[in-house]
Amino acid sequence: MTTSGIEELGWLEDWDEVRARLGELAGLDGPAPAAVTRRALEDRAFGFYLLFARESPTLKKALLEDPRNAAYERAAEKAPTTSLLGTAAKAFARWGAAGFKRLDAAAYDARWRTCLACPELVEAPDRLVYNGLTILADDSRVCSACGCVAAKKAAVPTEGCPLGKWPHPEQRD
Ligand code: SF4
Repeated sequence: MTTSGIEELGWLEDWDEVRARLGELAGLDGPAPAAVTRRALEDRAFGFYLLFARESPTLKKALLEDPRNAAYERAAEKAPTTSLLGTAAKAFARWGAAGFKRLDAAAYDARWRTCLACPELVEAPDRLVYNGLTILADDSRVCSACGCVAAKKAAVPTEGCPLGKWPHPEQRD
């Protein structure tokens, strides 16, 4: 395991630290609420959007008060398992370990142009899930190869195109 991998797991396995870190990165006054944190880990799109809403108090409030957060309250009573962290949350964690930096405009444009020409870019299949979040995205279509909102995923440096159509600027040596 690489050093960064160890640091990543250490960051993830401390539940209080995950909540505190998410609160800090989302621009909250303290640790993120447990249910919100749990949802951010299980629902990648929600986690991304919460962090992207950092500078928008109105949108941040909408996400924090989303009634669907209640569905995560019971699960949030316990720290997430390693298996959960190892699957849905992995990309979110990588991004966190990298300080939640966003891609520069030129690199983003190159990625997004590729998505726009890609047959995998489709309308979101589950409008109920995505409707509450589209307020933050200019384009709410998803990548059918991975299920992410492509316009937002493309802005995350540590994310990659599942079909290898994007360059990975921060993964090159
Ligand atoms: S992430 Fe890759 S596969 Fe998905 S829509 Fe964009 S270019 Fe296509």
